[in-house]
Amino acid sequence: MTPITVAKFGGTSVADYQAMLRCAHIIKNNPDNKLVVVSASAGVTNFLVRLSQPNVPIAEQDEIIKNIGNIQYNITQHLDEQDDLNQQISVLLEELAAYASANALNHSARISDAILSFGEQMSSRIFAQVLQSVRLPGQYFDVRQVMKTNDLYGKAVVNLEKLKANVSTILASKLESNVLVTQGFIGQNDAGYTTTLGRGGSDYSAALLAEALEADNLAIWTDVEGIFTTDPRITDQARSIKEISFGEAAEMATFGAKILHPATLIPAMRQNIPVFVGSSKEPEKGGTRIQQAVASKPTYRSIALRREQTLVTVKSPAMLHASGFLAKVFAVLAKHELSVDLITTSEISVAMTFDNPTGSTQALLNSTVVEELEQLCEVTVEHGLSLVAVVGNNIHQTNGVGTDIFEALSGVNVRMICQGASEHNLCFLVDEQQANLAVEQLHNNLFSVA
Ligand code: ADP
Ligand code: ASP
Ligand code: MG
Repeated sequence: MTPITVAKFGGTSVADYQAMLRCAHIIKNNPDNKLVVVSASAGVTNFLVRLSQPNVPIAEQDEIIKNIGNIQYNITQHLDEQDDLNQQISVLLEELAAYASANALNHSARISDAILSFGEQMSSRIFAQVLQSVRLPGQYFDVRQVMKTNDLYGKAVVNLEKLKANVSTILASKLESNVLVTQGFIGQNDAGYTTTLGRGGSDYSAALLAEALEADNLAIWTDVEGIFTTDPRITDQARSIKEISFGEAAEMATFGAKILHPATLIPAMRQNIPVFVGSSKEPEKGGTRIQQAVASKPTYRSIALRREQTLVTVKSPAMLHASGFLAKVFAVLAKHELSVDLITTSEISVAMTFDNPTGSTQALLNSTVVEELEQLCEVTVEHGLSLVAVVGNNIHQTNGVGTDIFEALSGVNVRMICQGASEHNLCFLVDEQQANLAVEQLHNNLFSVA
């Protein structure tokens, strides 16, 4: 069997014609690149998110669809054979317009997901043709044939057995003579409706496909040259990490490093597929290799930041020496499908954090959940917090870690600390306004600046 690399290109990598052409050359430079997974062109999913909301006025719908069309036609205009492709894009835009007006009349999660899928549907068709323009056998493939999911619109769960079976019967043989270009982020449920896997989900799609194919490598091409010691947008002192273990990288992704969708490394770890992260703009700069065994295991590898956290504190004197109180609290949360991230307890109170990126947790916590919890205890809900995680190795067993970290945080109000559950991280909550400062100060202290 010839080696297979699954290559994923994110939104900025397929943002315009020049960017797509650079990606096509990356594919051309390595014949192992047999399956390409693309995101929507940069900006398109954000437009679609707006379109998928309830009651979008008709004039705004038209404006958004025009903007999306402009992004896509600005790419196709550079291609020699564009008529057929333009025709396909125009049909998709018409379909999108129909969904948008149906959604405005009668909003539903099902129609929202249908709307959100159009970015990837368009970028994948265009990129297949860009590959052909550099004389590669680029071929469009609709991932919904293989990526079967449940009905949880917006956060659909992939059926791994079906994916594996479909990939071997429908997809694998096509890789012999084609470079397949398919969509990240989207799937299909048993009823035949389109679903999506959650924002940033293309990384995860690519990893799932790599696992199902038993691929030799997964390459995530993005806008920075690998995983950095912290988000390079926060401090220019951040630098690219050459090599990192699956465990550390998975913690970074879980704790908010946007570079990888949180679930990306799970399939790669299951199948032990090394993952490369690099910049499609500057591939010659190299990037980060994520794999099982790494040469060095520094105590401090990186700092991740997750914004928009909600802290819920429940307090009840009845909790003192009582059993079953926490079970009741968690039963309420489970009933409302709320997932707790961090938790700390004291004698009569429990503090919990919730990820709140879309405002959905906030909405739920403000209404019924809080009322139900208040039947059991006193409840305080605080928004506007950020979670900072210091990721590394043996953090739970190394002397002086606490001193290094908390010395760096002078002037920062630390709200909640979690340590000990993982060998790979120590994390804490801070006010949103102090988040960047906390990361900068920590970075200066923990990583010697060149
Ligand atoms: P793509 O569209 O290619 O999926 P994303 O915007 O989702 O790209 O992710 C890349 C971005 O992740 C970078 O531009 C960077 O700002 C951000 N990021 C956050 N944490 C890190 C980190 N530790 N290392 C590198 N990039 C990071
Ligand atoms: N296009 C989707 C998003 O913007 C998925 C992705 O890019 O990973 O969230
Ligand atoms: Mg991303």
